[in-house]
Amino acid sequence: MQLDSSIRYISGIGETRAKAFEKAGVFTVRDLLEYFPRRYENRGEICKLFDLPDGETASVVVRIDSAPREGRGKSGKYYVRASASDDTGTLYMTFFNQKWIAKSLSPGRVFRVYGKINMGQYGRDTVNPVLEPYIPGMKGIYPVYPLSGTLTQTLVAKAVSQALPLAEEIQDVLPEELMRQFALIPKSSAVRAMHSPGDEKEIAEATRTLAFEELTVFQLALRRMRSGRDDRAAHALSQKGTGVRTFFQNLPFPLTGAQQRAVKDIFADMQRPVPMMRLVQGDVGSGKTVLSVAAAYLCARNGYQSAVMAPTEILAKQHFSTFEKMLSQYGINVLLITGSMTAAQKKNARAAIADGTADVIIGTNAVIQGGVEFKNLALAVTDEQHRFGVMQRSALVGKGADGKTPHTLVMSATPIPRTLSLILYGDLDISILDERPPGRQKVVTRAVSAASRTEIYSFLDSEKRKGHQIFVVCPLVEESELTEAESATERFESIQKELPSFRCGLLHGKMKQKEKDEVMERFRTHELDLLVSTTVIEVGVDVPNATVMVVENAERFGLSTLHQLRGRIGRGSQKSYCILIYGSDSERSRERLETMCRTDDGFEIARTDLKLRGPGDFFGERQSGELRFKVANGADMPLVEQTRAAVDVILENGLLEREDYSALRAATEKLWQDNLRKNTLN
Ligand code: ADP
Ligand code: MG
Repeated sequence: MQLDSSIRYISGIGETRAKAFEKAGVFTVRDLLEYFPRRYENRGEICKLFDLPDGETASVVVRIDSAPREGRGKSGKYYVRASASDDTGTLYMTFFNQKWIAKSLSPGRVFRVYGKINMGQYGRDTVNPVLEPYIPGMKGIYPVYPLSGTLTQTLVAKAVSQALPLAEEIQDVLPEELMRQFALIPKSSAVRAMHSPGDEKEIAEATRTLAFEELTVFQLALRRMRSGRDDRAAHALSQKGTGVRTFFQNLPFPLTGAQQRAVKDIFADMQRPVPMMRLVQGDVGSGKTVLSVAAAYLCARNGYQSAVMAPTEILAKQHFSTFEKMLSQYGINVLLITGSMTAAQKKNARAAIADGTADVIIGTNAVIQGGVEFKNLALAVTDEQHRFGVMQRSALVGKGADGKTPHTLVMSATPIPRTLSLILYGDLDISILDERPPGRQKVVTRAVSAASRTEIYSFLDSEKRKGHQIFVVCPLVEESELTEAESATERFESIQKELPSFRCGLLHGKMKQKEKDEVMERFRTHELDLLVSTTVIEVGVDVPNATVMVVENAERFGLSTLHQLRGRIGRGSQKSYCILIYGSDSERSRERLETMCRTDDGFEIARTDLKLRGPGDFFGERQSGELRFKVANGADMPLVEQTRAAVDVILENGLLEREDYSALRAATEKLWQDNLRKNTLN
């Protein structure tokens, strides 16, 4: 067996199990070794029963008191029950469907018991804990692997332990120079420690080393892409004689300073013969749309087509009417193409796109990327709202005119702290809209305990009487609890009971796109007063009549998500309210919610989020599809900044050409080829 052997060489992995691993992206022994634990259980820290708070997951060392009892529960489930004690209390243990365990529970034996320990009526109790014969000095830290399909912890752990000796053969990607400078350990040791750590310090050291490598390779590949762009040609558009001054004068409002700066950036890019790759970051409502209208105007006036892609059909329609209003007066032909059009309509639209009758084409990502033949495309705009799932694909929209690459403009409504933007978007130029157009009202935001539900409902009732509409968003759900969809469904049912006069709708991710669109449409047209949903509404729709956003278990959401949710309201002229209901009252979650009450500046909120939760969540946003960090999500900001500094030094001094950097160069090239390149270039 070698690192690049198939996992089928591992004993115990046959065809079926191999398939399960393959689904999780594990094909070779090397992949398996890089299938890192999601977290660790520290069973080594032994607690006393008396000291444990109710519901704590912990290890105790206990002696079995008497012979166990066996039986069947009401549901017919077989159980074994035993009591055991340490010198501070008694623990009642119940094991379901583990018949073999009864034999080992003989009185007097001492076990280390790891599990969730509750405060019961007669003493402590626990269900299905991990039971191990106690040996002083026994191993304490256990990896917990991410599971999918039919994979189990035992299966993964066993396979990994067989592969582990081969970790020795893993070569370093980072050159010795960097490893020394940043006090990193050899990759082989890091990989071994991830799976079989001696203590917490080893895990931290290993994570740091692997995250350093991952972030460094990622940034080098992004920058590689950026430099690759200069090798491609784009249409250099001209501003001369296009009447852009008139265009801006005719807008219904003067641009803000931030918008003016962004337009300047965009126009400067589009006048160069290399493709623009620009990201505009600005809060919801910061006025990004008009920037894309201006870009499309310039493009059309130069005789080329532009494509504007939106994540949903509703948004595409919204954009269509905005673009029409601002462009049709110049004889620019705006066309909408969506999935719900009839085959004949689509055919007509396709023809107009192909023969150049349509100047500006607006549609969903799915439709436009699903295959539209342009006559002469020179600009592709992607409106990501705030998900980046497809941003890399924007340039995929066919070949530009004459085989040239279209200019690309990506608009994102997720404010990201600048330090992180530079790292995550090293392939793009960035314009920031940090100034709101005048006139938008601030949404009144309150953090309220779940105990005040009665008052909350009576407030909702008074808003409904004013003819206003309400969003209720249900929490992200942690492992092993209800799914998001279930939690939303539950809330939907209880609200219908509590507020019988409300016309309520339900929206969650398990529903079909068509059903979702229907419910959304009914809410938009005010056939519904209240919409209970999961975070699917983040990708947003304008319902100016909605004045209240209620977020359940708000402490479970990231600040940036809460900010996005709040952005759904306050779009009309009425006063609007965001009610953040918290179920837990830990200091940290309160501090986070306080931030929401204090400010509505998305960039400030993102900075606070970064400070409180670290950069991991932001990394999730940028990645998509095959490109996922394995360990970097756990990196802290100082490490992230160190990698950025290292990348700068490497590129400024051309170090990748050096022999000792050849492994790093190869890894960069591989990431670029495997992931970034095929998603970005034609
Ligand atoms: P975003 O896409 O960034 O969320 P929009 O482009 O949809 O924001 O703009 C939000 C609202 O603000 C729209 O109604 C738009 O017409 C308006 N708007 C944009 N720029 C300005 C401005 N400079 N002055 C006044 N209103 C503006
Ligand atoms: Mg927008």
